[in-house]
Order: sequence, then structure tokens, then C-alpha cells
Amino acid sequence: MSPFSVWGTKMWFADRFARTGAELARRHGLAVVGVGGGAGREAVIGRTIVEKVAEAGGKAVSLVGETSIGELKAVIKGARLVLANDSAPVHVAAAFNVPTVAIFGPTARKWGFFPLSERAIVVERLGLECRPCHIHGPQKCPKGHFRCMNDIQVEDVVQAVENLLR
Ligand code: SF4
Repeated sequence: MSPFSVWGTKMWFADRFARTGAELARRHGLAVVGVGGGAGREAVIGRTIVEKVAEAGGKAVSLVGETSIGELKAVIKGARLVLANDSAPVHVAAAFNVPTVAIFGPTARKWGFFPLSERAIVVERLGLECRPCHIHGPQKCPKGHFRCMNDIQVEDVVQAVENLLR
């Protein structure tokens, strides 16, 4: 699980990642490995996700801020599934043909950033007039409502994961 991006609006919410991890642990016994760069706020988010999954009775560990690029690739290659924002881990997973659920907010397929893998599912808010709004994703939603991410619920992501695990 990689809940980060350098672009603010490309990030789905940390608490929803945590709830998703907890739900997947509860329903399917999946263990969560949190990855991503950054040893400050990101590491706190990683620990929070671990706590939530543990509260749900699942296994989780945070490697946020602790992996080299090579180690990150190894973790992704060994994963049963990758769940991430529109960010580098999605493309690493595609390169290794690891099943992937990618969450896309302000960007869209027509700009070419979708994972090039048949084993990937993109969760996105279709039919939103303001979307896509920026080639990368602005740091803050220019409309203020941030519906491209706000409208994506935990159950949407859990179902995408379940579809890939079948
Ligand atoms: S303007 Fe629309 S697409 Fe852009 S960040 Fe806000 S909700 Fe998302």
C-alpha cells in the first residue's frame, strides 16, 4: 500500500487507506505493507495505517521512509497486490505484472498516466465536469470541493481489490 504522491490532489485520504487496509485484513486476511518516501509526516501516516489494520485484527508493517529504490521494487514484486495513488509504485507494479488498484483523482486516462497492465484496475470518479483539471494534479483543489477524491469511498476500493483477487 502506497498512500502518497508529491502532488497534493493525487492523494486519496490516509484515513480511507487505513480503513481499506483494515477491511481487507478483516475480510480476506491480507497483510498490509506500507511503502513510500519520506520520514516525517509520511512515516506518521504509515504508522497510523499499521495501527488501524492491527485494531481490525490484521497484520501490517510500515516501511515508509525506510526502503531504497531497489528494496521498494523487491517489496512490490513480492506483493500479492498493490494499492496506490497515481504514483511511481503503480508503474513499478505494472512492470512486474503485479495486480494493482490505482486511485486517480484530477488526472485521467487521456493524458496517458494509467498503468500499462491488464492486471490493473483504476478507481476514479467518472462524469465529474471539472475532471481532469491539471496535467499532474494541483496541490489543492481549485474548486474547493475535491470531489474527484472525496467521492471515492472505501467500499469502492475494497471492491476493486476483490475483483482483482478473484
Ligand atoms: S477541480 Fe475537480 S478534478 Fe481538479 S482537484 Fe478539484 S475535484 Fe479534482
